[in-house]
Amino acid sequence: MTKHAFETRMSHAGRAGTHVHGFVNPGVHRGSTVLFPNCEARREGGAKRYEQHMTYGTQGGPTHYALEDVISEIEGGTRTTIVGTGLAAVMVPLLAYLKSGDHCLMPDSVYGPARNLANTLMQGWGIETEFYPPAIGEAEMAALIRPNTKVVYTESPGSHTFELQDIPALARAAHARGCKVLMDNTWGIHTFQPFRHGVDVSIQALTKYVSGHSDIVLGSVCVNSEDDWQAVRSTASLLGQFASPDDVYLALRGVRTMALRLKHQFAASLDVASWFEAQPQVRAVLHPGLPSHPQHALFRRDFTGGASLFGVVFQPRYAIEDVFRFIDSLEFFGIGASWGGFESLAIPTTGFITRSTGTGDFGGPMARIHVGLEDVADLKADLAQGLARMG
Ligand SMILES: *Cc1c(COP(=O)(O)O)cnc(C)c1O
Repeated sequence: MTKHAFETRMSHAGRAGTHVHGFVNPGVHRGSTVLFPNCEARREGGAKRYEQHMTYGTQGGPTHYALEDVISEIEGGTRTTIVGTGLAAVMVPLLAYLKSGDHCLMPDSVYGPARNLANTLMQGWGIETEFYPPAIGEAEMAALIRPNTKVVYTESPGSHTFELQDIPALARAAHARGCKVLMDNTWGIHTFQPFRHGVDVSIQALTKYVSGHSDIVLGSVCVNSEDDWQAVRSTASLLGQFASPDDVYLALRGVRTMALRLKHQFAASLDVASWFEAQPQVRAVLHPGLPSHPQHALFRRDFTGGASLFGVVFQPRYAIEDVFRFIDSLEFFGIGASWGGFESLAIPTTGFITRSTGTGDFGGPMARIHVGLEDVADLKADLAQGLARMG
């Protein structure tokens, strides 16, 4: 299917066809017990999909398989495993490739709960994590890799601060020393094709644009080789990872409109982001799609579009309380976590940013903006009245 346009593929991927009597959408298959006609059939049971060869509910069923196929299509990989949350999708491959005595490299701009996992449970299990400046190149990465480094973790752009990473360069350094390259590709989704840029394992919080409706939490781990599939799938299974078929069904439903939502929201976010840049209260806007972004050239090189989440840095004369006043006065921007849904959101990010390499200070208090599907003129008018209250 890869020769067809993304919109076409998102309409046709993951259909169950004759297995559901011709209905366009797969059914919601719930279950723990899977019955066999006899013991021999059970002994033979196992791998075959869409047949009577499922063995137990935790292995997933037809609803899961449909979404797995769609995510593989979105990311350009071969196989995908669906897990309960985006954070579980971060955890599963880390634990698949790291054991006691190993070293892991993570960008300093990594999603906060991934940092917490590395600094608590992983550390307790004897896995050392070192945080590196996100914008480093191949030679700097090569210098950080030790004999016991097994994973180079990446996320581009970084959470809250939106630094891009030169993934092909980092992957070259990692692969030269036998390290796996993991990437949290939630912001890029299909606009960054991880496996074309040297990534081994791609992580998605399906909670975001795939769901698109802010009503589920779900994650996926996609790979592009049989070895990686065995490593990731067995770890997910060992950890008892499972997602409700109802949530999986909602994610499949979200997929059907995702290409259009994302295209619209990316364009709307660029419109709002460049509007922010022109406001006197604003010092900088952190959106990889803006020409002012310090790594915009990487964005042009590696991405075919983008997401609708970006950062705003206010002038240093403002205190975080001024940012609170701005956000509190907004009518259309909800104050809450997550993103990728139909609704606009705004949160202050000052105080949420933990760093160990001295990156991430942009010289003023910060907020994170998510642009939803509301009319852009309405959003700008709302933001304008909010900024006016900052003084
Ligand atoms: C939200 C998010 C996650 C985690 O997803 P959940 O489903 O909320 O656990 C992981 N990575 C990034 C970049 C995210 O924004």
